[in-house]
Amino acid sequence: MDKNFLIQEITRLKQEKKAVILAHYYQDENIQEIADFIGDSLELAKKAQNTNADIIVFAGVHFMAETAKILNPNKKVLLPDWEAGCSLADGCDPKDFSEFKTQYPDHVVVTYINCSAEIKAMSDLVCTSANAKKIIESIPDEHKIIFAPDENLGNYLQKETKRELVLWKGSCVVHEAFSLDKLIELYNKNPTAKIAAHPESESHILKAAHFIGSTSGIINFIKTDPAAVYIVATEAGILHELSKAVPNKTLIPAPSTEDNSCACSECAFMKMNTLEKLYLCLKNESPEMLVTEELRIEALKPIEKMLQLS
Ligand code: SF4
Repeated sequence: MDKNFLIQEITRLKQEKKAVILAHYYQDENIQEIADFIGDSLELAKKAQNTNADIIVFAGVHFMAETAKILNPNKKVLLPDWEAGCSLADGCDPKDFSEFKTQYPDHVVVTYINCSAEIKAMSDLVCTSANAKKIIESIPDEHKIIFAPDENLGNYLQKETKRELVLWKGSCVVHEAFSLDKLIELYNKNPTAKIAAHPESESHILKAAHFIGSTSGIINFIKTDPAAVYIVATEAGILHELSKAVPNKTLIPAPSTEDNSCACSECAFMKMNTLEKLYLCLKNESPEMLVTEELRIEALKPIEKMLQLS
């Protein structure tokens, strides 16, 4: 379908249906351009909680739309592509996690927001990469902690907070794909560059980084830091919004181990959403995210605790 037609129709349907489009920074740039709000998981969770719209179109992945529904039971929440999953969320099966949890009965359970409603319902606290340190530090020292589902983020948090965490062995396929050898090679070619990395990346990438932070943390760092060149080790979609904010700086996506032509890392799940799918889901009001009330109430508790603490 023609891009101009899609933009026109999405804009019309949005007004007609009193809908709001929330898009993650990792979305395709056409979707970012038409979104009412662009953000990382925490910003989008807050936005979803405060919107007056009747319909939320969540241009992100499954667990994000599910979180929006948990926070907005009376609103219709749509996801452009139902298959847009996440390796972290999909790698933490509720039955397996329940068995894992029973091995550590006296532990406080903290889960990264990249997990299903069932896993959130088994958690005491939810966190995002932007507030994970603060959430862990809010737990009194005498309590033991399980952290799931991201092992890389968990290892980073252990170092940062000096707390011992029992870790679930999950990972993000995108952040785990960064190649240290190629990163060093790229850095040698750009010796004045600063490396900014997301804590979902493996520890050897984090060791090489000048700055480690969440998606919004990386954006704020590059906006305020005086350097002129940055190598960015997170999903390449953030470069779109960032390049508008810092037009005079050079932004280079960190290279992945795969031999792809652009040499940058993109999340295949995030990129499943397209402008056409966004238009169709708004037009047909489908696929719609539904969560049973019983599950929603249980999953809401740790999310609300996180929002109060952050
Ligand atoms: S970038 Fe990684 S953590 Fe984010 S949605 Fe994609 S697979 Fe999941």
